[in-house]
Amino acid sequence: MKSQEVRSKFLDFYKTKGHKIVASAPMVIKDDPTLMFTNAGMNQFKEFFLGNTISKNKRVADTQKCLRVSGKHNDLEEVGRDTYHHTMFEMLGNWSFGDYFKKEAIQWAWELLTEVYGLDKGSLYVSVFEGSKDADKLEMDKEAYDLWKAIVPEDKIIMGNKKDNFWEMGDQGPCGPCSEIHIDIRSKEEKAKVSGASLVNQDHPQVVEIWNLVFMQYNRKANGELENLPEKHVDTGMGFERLCMALQGVKSNYDTDVFMPLIREIETITNQRYGKNEEIDISIRVIADHVRAVAFSIADGQLPSNTGAGYVIRRILRRAVRYGFTFLGAKKPFIHRLVKVLSRNMGEAFPEIKEQYQLIENVIKEEEHSFLNTLEQGLVLLDSVIKSTNGNVVDGQKAFELYDTYGFPIDLTALILEEKGYQLDENGFNDALEAQKKRSRTASEISKDDWTILVNDPVEEFIGYDTLEASVKLVKYRKVTSKKDGEQYQMVFNITPFYPEGGGQVGDKGYLEASNGDVVYIIDTKRENNEIVHFTQNLPKDFSMVLRAVVDKRQRQRTESNHTATHLLHQALREILGTHVEQKGSAVHSKYLRFDFSHFSKLTTEELRDVESFVNARIEGQLPLEENRNVPVKEALAQGAMALFGEKYGDAVRTVRFGQSIELCGGTHVKNTGDIWHFKITSEGAVASGIRRIEAITSDAVKEFYFKNNRALFEIKDLLNNTQDPVKAVESLQEENIKLKKQVEVLLRDKTKNLKGDLMNEVSEVNGIQFLAKKVDLDAAGIKDLSFEMGSNKDNLFLLFATDQGGKALLSCYISKELVASKNLNAGTIVRELGKYIQGGGGGQPFFATAGGKNPAGIAEALEKAKDYIS
Ligand code: ATP
Ligand code: MG
Repeated sequence: MKSQEVRSKFLDFYKTKGHKIVASAPMVIKDDPTLMFTNAGMNQFKEFFLGNTISKNKRVADTQKCLRVSGKHNDLEEVGRDTYHHTMFEMLGNWSFGDYFKKEAIQWAWELLTEVYGLDKGSLYVSVFEGSKDADKLEMDKEAYDLWKAIVPEDKIIMGNKKDNFWEMGDQGPCGPCSEIHIDIRSKEEKAKVSGASLVNQDHPQVVEIWNLVFMQYNRKANGELENLPEKHVDTGMGFERLCMALQGVKSNYDTDVFMPLIREIETITNQRYGKNEEIDISIRVIADHVRAVAFSIADGQLPSNTGAGYVIRRILRRAVRYGFTFLGAKKPFIHRLVKVLSRNMGEAFPEIKEQYQLIENVIKEEEHSFLNTLEQGLVLLDSVIKSTNGNVVDGQKAFELYDTYGFPIDLTALILEEKGYQLDENGFNDALEAQKKRSRTASEISKDDWTILVNDPVEEFIGYDTLEASVKLVKYRKVTSKKDGEQYQMVFNITPFYPEGGGQVGDKGYLEASNGDVVYIIDTKRENNEIVHFTQNLPKDFSMVLRAVVDKRQRQRTESNHTATHLLHQALREILGTHVEQKGSAVHSKYLRFDFSHFSKLTTEELRDVESFVNARIEGQLPLEENRNVPVKEALAQGAMALFGEKYGDAVRTVRFGQSIELCGGTHVKNTGDIWHFKITSEGAVASGIRRIEAITSDAVKEFYFKNNRALFEIKDLLNNTQDPVKAVESLQEENIKLKKQVEVLLRDKTKNLKGDLMNEVSEVNGIQFLAKKVDLDAAGIKDLSFEMGSNKDNLFLLFATDQGGKALLSCYISKELVASKNLNAGTIVRELGKYIQGGGGGQPFFATAGGKNPAGIAEALEKAKDYIS
């Protein structure tokens, strides 16, 4: 069965069981501070499990792009080494939100696997939670056991411990027992030798878990206690690639049609064969796997970068490059060439890959290129580390620096050292790594108290499109503590005019005023699990009082101005540069806006001017805001609304239109483009290969910008004696300056010549050495010329010149080469030592060196001491 069919059969099956089929959420998560990447199908439904929102559909199914490379689920090191863990994989899932529970979940899973897919019943094993004796004192999941017993023989049911069979979302939140389904794909002979049951959950590559059915029935509180959830839910996740392996009768996920085309392409490009050598096989698997993770992230709008999610992506790609470099002999970028195959293979199910194929290819190519350069530089650095090593054990701290500062991978370091007969001090490296991890852990650690709930009313409404002030009820609050922000409180209200950070737009700030006049400042607003959370430094003194929530109007208006300008900018770019322009990032602040977009070349001055004019024409056109808060997404797209890759849209969306600009957008906007006043681009540059960035300002910020420029111009005019034409005046100043410089050069040359004659007469003989130490009025270059000219006229010369140039002291020492050799003198050492008198330092070569310092008062003493070196 082809993988396409495996996927559609799953979705069709659950459709017939009354499930709504929804789209995969983006793999890169943008609006959840607790998670960088989707790591399970349930992530996008978290708010339903927490009870913050009621799902419109009680039964849902989908295939979800997942990435397990950080945080609680991190499979990165396994990937490629084994045959069934990936970084990016698809998770097929079905959900019940307070609807059906264990019975249906178990029966349908079995029906699908054995009847629809036709898997051999005898090869399947199921596991049931055995209970726990720890603080939770949980009973065994008898309900699930009995349900399974009605379907499968008892020897196929395996009792599982808390680690394998009790699923928790995190340290806090919904959790419950689970039942896993495992499959044994070994040959008949092997099965006869060792029973499958004994291999379940033993990391056997051919007895693997394919499906996990989680029964959410508890909530884990901050103090660790469990409480029953008001409603029970089902959350299942099945590994698509593992299922394909079982259905296609192969022994590895990589042998399925999901990966084989990629593997064939890698073989062709690198001229290697898969299946002959373990190291080569691992490398090929790593690359086939990682290119998917990286390509899907870029398609979702996450470019490789130096921080956060972007850094995780960069590291994945680098891991692939390094396997290619080390084991496949790939010294040139090649991974980007696999994107074409990926797009052909997966573009149907995930159109974002097909549509952005060119961009993805460019970005990967550039990353590969720069990392291969790093590898080369790293090899040189490693060489110098080896040279400075006594014995044959290389310092772990040094290896760590190479890894941490230059991104040079530690396993490569170890490998190269081994080849050269050296050993890596692994403990030293691990200690350094652990110390660094600890530093960053404590910096990012956050502890959250349980919510204190005052009103049992989860409906929270955002009313900030229409008003900036409202009387609100405090629904719940909690304390959060982190190293970064100290102690803060989070509050949720029944309604709120505060816009939570999202869609690039910053969260509102403002204050809460109690009826007795007490004020609490709201310092930020964010959305968490579909709740609008307000951040404050302290709590209102009295919760029962009526609270007035007031948004900082000025900041909001400036932000809105920048947000609307962002839409107009987007429109302008597509109009002027072409429709290949896709938004790749946007930050809307009160002071400025930043917009990243796909485009292959630097914008010319004319293009930038055209873009500015285009936007300003629409500002002058005074276009009114036309918003529609509730349009079916299909209709909005039919109207030409621009949707973004990597965004999660519901069935009904909000559209924001100004003239011909129409976007799906949840942000806040000006009522009329005239309110923006003016739009000005402040910078344009590259962010990555094929991605440009424009920064711009509007409204007050533009006024300030022009005001500042204007003031500078007046000051310049003032300096130029109020000329009418400052440009011309500056030009003639520049010309005059060039003329004067030439004259000065000629004069200086003459002066040096005269000086040289005088100074030659002042040279005296000390201990057979021609010696002079003197303060002169020349700059560094003049002194150097002078010294070398004198040196070419006299042998055995020792010169120490000093000068005071505008409060900065300079010492310059010249020693004839024959003296350097015969008397073992070194100008570098001498200036360094004499430098202390002028409070400075310097160096150079044995025959000529200079030192600079900030104490000209010490020059006399330095000159005095010069004689000591030759007497
Ligand atoms: P395993 O123990 O094999 O790592 P898991 O317990 O981490 O699996 P779950 O978190 O229950 O898995 O995820 C649900 C399903 O997703 C699993 O049954 C498996 O089929 C699949 N799955 C999990 N992790 C991966 C991965 N890294 N690559 C491919 N499929 C995976
Ligand atoms: Mg796992």
